[in-house]
Amino acid sequence: MAFRLFSSRQRFAEYKREVQARNGRGVFPAQPAARLHGPATPPPRHRSFFRLFLEFLRLLRPHSRNLALALATLTIGTELRLLPPAGTKIVIDYVLSDKPLPAAIARWVPVAARGAQLLLLVAAAMVTLSLTAAGVQLWGRWHATLVTKRLQTGVRRRLFEHAVRLPLHRVYQLKSGGVASILREDAGGVGELVFSMLYNPWRAVLQLVSSMAVLAWVDARLLAASLVLIPLVYMTHRTWISRIRPIHRDIRSQRQEVDSQATESFGGMRVVRAFHRERSEAGRFTRGNHMMARQELHAWWWARTVEVVWDILVPLATASLLLYGGFRVLSGQLSLGDLMMFLVYLAMLLGPLEVLANSATQFQSSLAGLDRVLDLLAEPREMPDVAGAIALEPSRVAGRITLRHVTFRYPGASEEVAKDVSLDVEPGRMIALVGPSGAGKTTLCNLIARFYDPTSGAMELDGVDLRHIRLDDYRRLLGIVEQEIFLFDGTVADNIGYAVRDATQDDIRRAAAMANAHEFITELEQGYDTVIGERGVRLSGGQRQRVAIARAILADPRILILDEATSNLDTESERLIQQSLQTLMRGRTTFVIAHRLSTVTHADRIVVMDQGRVIETGTHQELLDASGRYRHMVRLQVGEEVSP
Ligand code: ADP
Repeated sequence: MAFRLFSSRQRFAEYKREVQARNGRGVFPAQPAARLHGPATPPPRHRSFFRLFLEFLRLLRPHSRNLALALATLTIGTELRLLPPAGTKIVIDYVLSDKPLPAAIARWVPVAARGAQLLLLVAAAMVTLSLTAAGVQLWGRWHATLVTKRLQTGVRRRLFEHAVRLPLHRVYQLKSGGVASILREDAGGVGELVFSMLYNPWRAVLQLVSSMAVLAWVDARLLAASLVLIPLVYMTHRTWISRIRPIHRDIRSQRQEVDSQATESFGGMRVVRAFHRERSEAGRFTRGNHMMARQELHAWWWARTVEVVWDILVPLATASLLLYGGFRVLSGQLSLGDLMMFLVYLAMLLGPLEVLANSATQFQSSLAGLDRVLDLLAEPREMPDVAGAIALEPSRVAGRITLRHVTFRYPGASEEVAKDVSLDVEPGRMIALVGPSGAGKTTLCNLIARFYDPTSGAMELDGVDLRHIRLDDYRRLLGIVEQEIFLFDGTVADNIGYAVRDATQDDIRRAAAMANAHEFITELEQGYDTVIGERGVRLSGGQRQRVAIARAILADPRILILDEATSNLDTESERLIQQSLQTLMRGRTTFVIAHRLSTVTHADRIVVMDQGRVIETGTHQELLDASGRYRHMVRLQVGEEVSP
């Protein structure tokens, strides 16, 4: 595999070259190298900041009330906080110098306070104002935090609902760990944008505008001097921001790759152990992490560049203003209190801007997360229903399945794996699909289950093209038991009742009994409440299959697909189950993929496939008489079974 050959250092060197090329062009490459971007995702679109901002506002719409409350209280709190510095001026100019209070201020003072009394009064007023501001803001912050969490859960839910409806091949490409990474990291980042894109900037703007207004009132010329800072700030930010977000996108996609690799390693732990690949898996994981660390360090440098600019700008600005204001105080054009107040406001003005600049790394990273979330949401879902798609009433469905010249190629594959297959299956019949491995039997069942649509030709239910039937309704008719049984983390009863939400305990027991599973389940320590699946009791292959068959029985499907469903059973269990399967199959159109031909001799029709084509069809007897491929296969199997 390609990544084996590259150390993270080499990959990073290549990555940096790519970033440089990208910066040169100012846009993303149309088709980034797949290896660098991890999982095969569609090429990233580059959304402008404005576009992302609008999309974010759209996501926020349901939370507008809470958000308005948060911003309103923030406004009140911030404005209240602007008053205390004026106290500094009062103290210096009027209390300490013993000058009489100007009439405008004296009007607000209840008693004719002077000296120490006035000092106390000002101090008390400052404390009261600050406490009120803090209280009001805390309340608002709580609401903003609520919005953050609701947004996160909302976006995660939407993403999950979307991801479970992506076309199967896309789901496989994303890998389970990759989806988990997007759900957790990227959707989490979207929530954080409430603070980094709205709450904090809003406070900064308020402080900026208000303190500028006060400054203008004190000395317009001083204000003009401090305004010089703004274009400087803007310019440093612009150059920088256009560079940093793409890097954060890459970091996030690297994280997705690392996460999906880790999930894969643990999912395949038995294979990892069996082939003692623990060290190499750890190595693979570490290399991915090193790459991510290198990218993060790269982003760190961009972030620090801006911080350094600020570190230089802020003291420089303060010193210049102190110098300029000091001269004006010396020449008697400005009072000492004014200068002090001015410096406090200057700090209030620069402070939030600095905080914003420093938190911008986080902000850009969250914005990159939003970008990726939007990418995933923009991906088309699996087979959207056409306008006027037919809704099915299960009781009215007969269950006739017709394949008309069906040809199929898996998305992204070059070879056709079903070639001009035509088949007409009457309702309630049992069709056996046989043939060598790779012949296309599972593929045909995938088409019947409408996991995929044919490349050409048509699949029909009761004479209606499946593409004209509502997908959810059609899938509700299906019951599938596959060779590899997937059991969810939960009790035996949960697993059997998976398809039927309101199944009663009795229903579940009845289904289990029909699948010959009841007996072994009751022998388990906690019976139907025994936890199975990943963290629970391990069932044997045959037991798992019987649970799956019970699950299908309970779902009461009209169309049944049994993909090597009895392959893991010993002869005794198989005999037990064949009988229950017969009961289950009655009245349902059934497709059985069987390796052991002895299990399908009674099928209504046997379809022999090879290399994607149907080469023979007929009953067991007809095919034996025809002396074709089927007869040959039967001979071989009988030979196998007889020989020691
Ligand atoms: P069978 O069930 O008869 O053993 P399959 O239907 O599983 O055969 O496979 C038929 C062919 O389709 C094989 O060559 C296999 O490699 C290919 N194939 C199966 N699944 C996929 C997939 N998801 N993407 C691409 N090719 C696939």
